[in-house]
Amino acid sequence: MTYKAEYIWIDGTTPTAKLRSKTRILADGAELPIWGFDGSSTNQAEGHASDRVLKPVATFADPIRGGEDKLVLCEVFNIDGTPHESNTRAALREVAEKFADQESLFGIEQEYTFFQGSRPLGFPENGFPAPQGGYYCGVGADEIFGRPVVEKHLENCLAAGLGISGINAEVMPGQWEFQVGPLSPLDVSDHLWVARWLLYRTAEDFGVSATLDPKPAKGDWNGAGAHTNFSTKKMRESYDAIIEAAESLGRDDKPLEHIKNYGSGVEHRLTGAHETAPWNEYSYGVSNRGASVRIPWQVEVDQKGYIEDRRPNANIDPYVVTRLIVDTCGSALEK
Ligand code: ADP
Ligand code: MN
Ligand code: MN
Ligand code: MN
Ligand code: MN
Repeated sequence: MTYKAEYIWIDGTTPTAKLRSKTRILADGAELPIWGFDGSSTNQAEGHASDRVLKPVATFADPIRGGEDKLVLCEVFNIDGTPHESNTRAALREVAEKFADQESLFGIEQEYTFFQGSRPLGFPENGFPAPQGGYYCGVGADEIFGRPVVEKHLENCLAAGLGISGINAEVMPGQWEFQVGPLSPLDVSDHLWVARWLLYRTAEDFGVSATLDPKPAKGDWNGAGAHTNFSTKKMRESYDAIIEAAESLGRDDKPLEHIKNYGSGVEHRLTGAHETAPWNEYSYGVSNRGASVRIPWQVEVDQKGYIEDRRPNANIDPYVVTRLIVDTCGSALEK
């Protein structure tokens, strides 16, 4: 007997990478082998030397096919065994290892928007829906668009064994959010990438597409972010560590270094309007949804917990964002 393994990897498309996958039939009980693909079709190689290597790094149950079938997340390597330049997970492995004793945890809020044809789901053929106000966490057919897809995606994530922790309808019609975590830097990033793959794959069966575009509708409509909640063991025990982490993200050249890696087009989303802080001014504050970094109200009450970096775009590479935060805050908290 055999089972199906869906090998999933992140391609080399710039400025925002895409997910790719293909199926391998394996004998029952067989280990997941290293595999190859045509890198010239994924912006990961030139045609004359196109072979790239897929190395399985995380395996989940496949809720689409069911049974013993698997979803297999891979890292991409060159044939000489070095990580491919698109392989951002390799750099996170090193930083996560370096700061392992700080026990970093992340919860990422992934916002996204359903599209049908060229319009967000729920946008009429001509003109616009009613202005924002009633859609966030709404209920009813006049406010909610795509719920069956969202429910099926949630079911699929749970069946796969992903650390998904919640969902909600967002401020713009057709816009939704799911949260992954709290998990370690590598786990939250792996689970987020696989949850994204499941989102596209689930929506496919409904004839709907999903996009991580940070500003899917121009004008007075909220953009889509990926608020990144972060704590270390020290932060989960002391408010001084919370403040030090928030301060460290604003020091020296850190604000720009982070912003540059917080998703393509981040400056178009972080305008200062629509619950964002301007991209070029770092700030932090308790309960402040207009700050770059928010210290949740409950964290101030408890004098411990986590901080929320509100700057990352929906289209981030979580391997890059978690690496920068672990490095910046970890280095400061080491002292
Ligand atoms: P918001 O009020 O900003 O919409 P959400 O409830 O959507 O917040 O998301 C909060 C996220 O914070 C969740 O993903 C949760 O797992 C995460 N989280 C909670 N506690 C911690 C912690 N100690 N460290 C890191 N992340 C955490
Ligand atoms: Mn072929
Ligand atoms: Mn949220
Ligand atoms: Mn949100
Ligand atoms: Mn948030």
